[in-house]
Amino acid sequence: MSEQLNTLIKLQNIDSLILSLKQKLEIIPLEIKKLDEKIQEIDKSFENERKKVLNLEKIKKEKERQIEDINEKIRKFKEKTSQVKTNKEYQALLKEIELIEENLKKEEENFLIILYKLEEANKNLNQFRSKIDLDKKEIDKQKKELEDQKVIINQKIENLREDRKKLIAELSSEYYEEYRELMKKHKGLAVVEVKNSVCQGCFLHIPPQLYVEIKINQSIYHCPQCGRFLYYKAEEKLEEAKV
Ligand SMILES: [Zn+2]
Repeated sequence: MSEQLNTLIKLQNIDSLILSLKQKLEIIPLEIKKLDEKIQEIDKSFENERKKVLNLEKIKKEKERQIEDINEKIRKFKEKTSQVKTNKEYQALLKEIELIEENLKKEEENFLIILYKLEEANKNLNQFRSKIDLDKKEIDKQKKELEDQKVIINQKIENLREDRKKLIAELSSEYYEEYRELMKKHKGLAVVEVKNSVCQGCFLHIPPQLYVEIKINQSIYHCPQCGRFLYYKAEEKLEEAKV
């Protein structure tokens, strides 16, 4: 194979590799962002659970105060009973106390319900908290892996660029210029294989005479349609191998 063609093929391989590594690199910040959003969501739902507890604590305090007030009322009414003069007044007072005590009973029942709800909410919150810690640890781990990946990919690209420099030094400036033009024109694919007479860049069917010449790989040829450098890779035919 022509040395220059060989160099062009290697250069294309390196550039394709750099391109795909760069694409991977571009995705990483997006993936990190997604993970950050996940953490935000977790924090938000934790905050909601926490608010539920706080709200119930507030209701609990209100209920306690209400019950205290009712008890105070009962105490005062009971004091009054020693001061009433008639039996009628006394009976009316007792009736009043009875009503308030009924109310007290209801409020105390409500209070127990609130206590139960608060206990449940606290339990949920604690469960949530331990789950959050695990989830966040896992997310942090994933983030760190992505950061590590970034470093590795950058290092790989750096190494490839070094290899690239060496290849370019081997390539005639004329071919390199052409290569660069083709890379720009064809979005990163300047050197392609001809497979079964077909250009793998634009899928033109290569004329037979040209195909024969390309197969020899001794010179540099271009696709008549897309202009890319063409090369032929001899396939190991199974049938031949058997024979
Ligand atoms: Zn072509």
